[in-house]
Amino acid sequence: MDSARGKIEGQINSLQSFGTLDGPGIRYVVFMQGCPLKCVFCHNAGAIDLKGGKKVTLDKLMEKIDKCIPYLKQGGITVSGGEPTLQWRFVKEFLSACGQRGLHTALDTCLFTKKDVLVNLIPEVDLFLVSVKHMDAEKHFGLTGRDNKLILENIRYAASKKPVWLRYVLIEGITDSEEDLLDLIGFAKKLEKLELIELLSFSSMGVEKQREFKGFKITKTKDLKAPSLKKVLWAKKLLEENGFKVVV
Ligand code: SF4
Repeated sequence: MDSARGKIEGQINSLQSFGTLDGPGIRYVVFMQGCPLKCVFCHNAGAIDLKGGKKVTLDKLMEKIDKCIPYLKQGGITVSGGEPTLQWRFVKEFLSACGQRGLHTALDTCLFTKKDVLVNLIPEVDLFLVSVKHMDAEKHFGLTGRDNKLILENIRYAASKKPVWLRYVLIEGITDSEEDLLDLIGFAKKLEKLELIELLSFSSMGVEKQREFKGFKITKTKDLKAPSLKKVLWAKKLLEENGFKVVV
């Protein structure tokens, strides 16, 4: 790697050398620091403030990846967060270096980012893992502190270029009504390269950390509940009946 490129630094929250939840096969997962959203159900709240984490050069990170290449050939690498597009220059170089080694690359992102940034990243990404927090703009704002218009536009664009796995968190009474699911279905049906929808149940893990965040319009973290198993299976069936491959 040329020396200037290798010295570029990323602010990294943590590394996971043997992940199985973020993309196909065994993944090396890089959790970037910083996120523009403040989701009430965030499991990685410590990654939200861009000032946290620690600086790592691309060279150092690639040294770690290179040691794992034999088993990563069956899976790949995933850049997660936080929100990786906040540090897109570093992420682009990292994804590119991994791609040059023949590794599959996934980007786990909320896609709250400028279209230009997305356009820059797309050539280096083999798979997008994108979560839709809510289809309703006001409820989305309440759950995340941000509007969903830009996010939905970016998902449409990303899915016109690269495979996408859509993630959706079911929260009792907040995201799991028939209307919510039908809105999601209507949106997802128009995504060109959508491969599957992953349904996640809200978990109260991380709730304590979340209490320090302010500004939610519709709810407090302590009021959120996981849906019943019956509800999860109902949602799965509804999505499957509409032709989607669903993972729970
Ligand atoms: S997008 Fe939401 S869930 Fe993901 S890191 Fe940011 S605040 Fe947490």
